[in-house]
Amino acid sequence: MSDLLVIAERRGSEIHSSTYELLGKARELSLKRPFNVSVAVLSDNRLDEDATASLFSGGADKIIMAIDKSLGRFNFEPYTKTLAAIVKKLSPEIVLAPATTSGRTYMPGLAALLKTGLTADCTGLDIEEDTGNLLQTRPAIGGNIMATIKTPNHRPQMATVRPKTFSALKEPYMGNGEVESFEVTPEMIETNATLLQFKPIGEGKKGVQDAEVIIAGGMGLRKVENMEPIYRLTKLINGTVGASRKIVDSKWIGHEAQVGLSGHTVKPKIYIAAGISGAVQHIAGMQTAEFIVAINRDRNAAIFNFADIGLVGDAVEILNDLVEALESEVKK
Ligand SMILES: Cc1cc2nc3c(=O)[nH]c(=O)nc-3n(C[C@H](O)[C@H](O)[C@H](O)COP(=O)(O)OP(=O)(O)OC[C@H]3O[C@@H](n4cnc5c(N)ncnc54)[C@H](O)[C@@H]3O)c2cc1C
Repeated sequence: MSDLLVIAERRGSEIHSSTYELLGKARELSLKRPFNVSVAVLSDNRLDEDATASLFSGGADKIIMAIDKSLGRFNFEPYTKTLAAIVKKLSPEIVLAPATTSGRTYMPGLAALLKTGLTADCTGLDIEEDTGNLLQTRPAIGGNIMATIKTPNHRPQMATVRPKTFSALKEPYMGNGEVESFEVTPEMIETNATLLQFKPIGEGKKGVQDAEVIIAGGMGLRKVENMEPIYRLTKLINGTVGASRKIVDSKWIGHEAQVGLSGHTVKPKIYIAAGISGAVQHIAGMQTAEFIVAINRDRNAAIFNFADIGLVGDAVEILNDLVEALESEVKK
């Protein structure tokens, strides 16, 4: 049976949800063309039993652990060279990694070392049962078309996938569960880069990618001061502020809040889009939200085609009404 390798995203001692989403997709592909699904974990510490058990129930047949003190924090050269050695040893048909900041950084380097291709930021993956060609779908030409890319002449086939694009397994996977230690050699961790300082940003705050409720603002709010009811509302319901690119470009809010093709892909339980038109590039980042509420003055706005509830009216007025209603509920 051939191998499929998922590269784990670690945040400290925790395995990030994007790893489980890739494992879920790997198991789905494996139903069409059987794979041994391995997950590579690079770290300065061995995973504890709970994390190991979660990776197995999340879909891994094998965990490959590469442990070295230099692999504690992401560092391009040690990560890329260690991963290249793991891939050369395993010879997988497919290598998948999350399109996170680190995944987006090491995967091109890894593809170059392995002399193969890479499809970045995929939004869909499928497989041809007979050839094993991975069908890698991603937006192209400014998000106006979806292109499906194959790499029939090179192996491994490598792709990154945005977090929240796929779902983790709903039922636990029952595999054999094998842990393999991978020996990290001095050549693999040799680097010209020195980490001078590490500054975490937004510590303790939920980013849009992990948020369960997002209230996103767009240009229909007209001016930055009109973001105020969004901030009050998110505070009241423990939500997170999201944004269209136009208001990010207008510097009303930072890029970390941007949802869409050149921002983040999100999958909250509730997404409220206030004064957002529903351009394809925005929709690409939020259409998998479980429940979408759109507020727009124009009843023909494209966003309504994706909304579960549509409110036609002035976004600021409606948001202020909502804040008022919730605040009076809280006071009761
Ligand atoms: C390569 C590329 C990548 C891109 N990536 C992204 C991305 O990641 N994310 C993203 O969002 N965009 C992205 N865009 C930009 C995208 O095409 C749109 O320009 C952008 O999403 C529009 O933002 P908006 O809906 O806030 O503004 P607008 O298009 O200006 O829409 C404003 C909306 O507000 C409504 N409105 C006006 N007044 C009110 C009111 N008083 N009350 C209620 N509604 C009102 C209007 O009817 C309109 O529908 C990208 C574009 C390209 C080419």
